[in-house]
Amino acid sequence: MNTYDVCIVGAGVVGCAIARELMGRCRPAPIRLLVLEQHARPGEETSGRNSGVLHSGIHEAPFSLKARLAHEGCRSAAAYALERGIPLLRTGMLIVVSKEDIRRGLWREVAMLRRLWVNAWRTNTRVRFMTPSAVREWEPQVRASCGLAIPDVSVIDSQAFVQSLRTDAEVTGVEFAFDHRVLAVEEAGGSYLVSTDHQTIRVACLINAAGLYADEIASLALRHHKYTIRPLRGEYYEVMTSEKACRVGRPVYPALPPGATGKGIHLSPRPNGRLYIGPNEVAVQDKANYTSNKTPPSLFAEAVQQFLPALDERDLSWAYSGIRPRVETTSRSKSDFIVSVDREDPLLVDLIGIESPGLSAAMALARHVCDLPSLQKRFPSG
Ligand SMILES: Cc1cc2nc3c(=O)[nH]c(=O)nc-3n(C[C@H](O)[C@H](O)[C@H](O)COP(=O)(O)OP(=O)(O)OC[C@H]3O[C@@H](n4cnc5c(N)ncnc54)[C@H](O)[C@@H]3O)c2cc1C
Repeated sequence: MNTYDVCIVGAGVVGCAIARELMGRCRPAPIRLLVLEQHARPGEETSGRNSGVLHSGIHEAPFSLKARLAHEGCRSAAAYALERGIPLLRTGMLIVVSKEDIRRGLWREVAMLRRLWVNAWRTNTRVRFMTPSAVREWEPQVRASCGLAIPDVSVIDSQAFVQSLRTDAEVTGVEFAFDHRVLAVEEAGGSYLVSTDHQTIRVACLINAAGLYADEIASLALRHHKYTIRPLRGEYYEVMTSEKACRVGRPVYPALPPGATGKGIHLSPRPNGRLYIGPNEVAVQDKANYTSNKTPPSLFAEAVQQFLPALDERDLSWAYSGIRPRVETTSRSKSDFIVSVDREDPLLVDLIGIESPGLSAAMALARHVCDLPSLQKRFPSG
């Protein structure tokens, strides 16, 4: 049986970033680190099915892990993308209050801009209040009564990002086993025996970065049910027309009332020049249900027509969906990332509910995990 110091379950952006960071820190005295992934490639689940926006963290509850790690991680990811030549759209983003909102007296959307402004001020994030003409200067086709610009936000090619983190990790000696689905975790003599459909390994430290299935991996390791993840699908349509009146160069989000759970259906341009609309929020039972009962395009067209009036539903074509690993909580406040040392010996670190802005936060999240005293004690930085 093969023995490893560390096993990470999941080669999404988070698992790959942790593998890269941990091996990088242990370089003078390399450890044996294995990443187990059920698919043939990294980033096949949520990490490759998102909007690719490197969020600044100002949408998140102040002082939450989401806010702090996105704030730090988005800068790391953008700098990393520039260094490695990963496609990056460096345009900033817009959040707009539509004229229709104001006509309907939706002052709460304006209050949301104010809340974002305060969060930006607190975290030293550059933002600019946008008058209707300033919005038109940035995005000539967009109609808005006001807005907020966040100039340092960029959009990354998320698949290329994950692939690059994986390559970096491999270069430093991390092993990856693809097409290996973790089926069982047993505790035996101060180690875990982790069994996949192909092999069983012995490991002293297990890091659970299994995304949508992280609740199930935690249950296997803990022998009791501690977390519940409810899958929440987000769908995208692609804008197929090259008509100028329907094109934008940067992400354009609607201002939502405080308390809204997502960031709203937005115009989502990508570094490869394609333009998408999404994501919505649809509760699904099955964590792999990406396509059944698709939401019709009319709902997406309606959502953005208030600020991009030229768009017609006939311009839209189904593109893809991603599924958020939403944690079930009893509190009414927005759920935060959970990074929890759930057992010391053998060490178990669970990462639960890594939904948006997990892509933005990944590199900072990796540092946060490697800084945990339990990990530092076992794997001191060289
Ligand atoms: C619609 C949508 C839009 C989003 N937009 C953004 C955005 O613009 N900006 C942003 O910052 N974030 C965004 N996010 C969030 C971001 O995509 C996630 O936070 C991030 O990808 C989570 O990465 P992860 O590595 O934790 O999970 P995943 O990418 O899900 O990786 C987990 C991996 O574990 C593997 N795995 C699971 N179970 C097992 C098992 N038993 N054995 C072996 N392997 C297993 C899976 O196959 C998977 O590859 C969005 C998410 C969604 C759904």
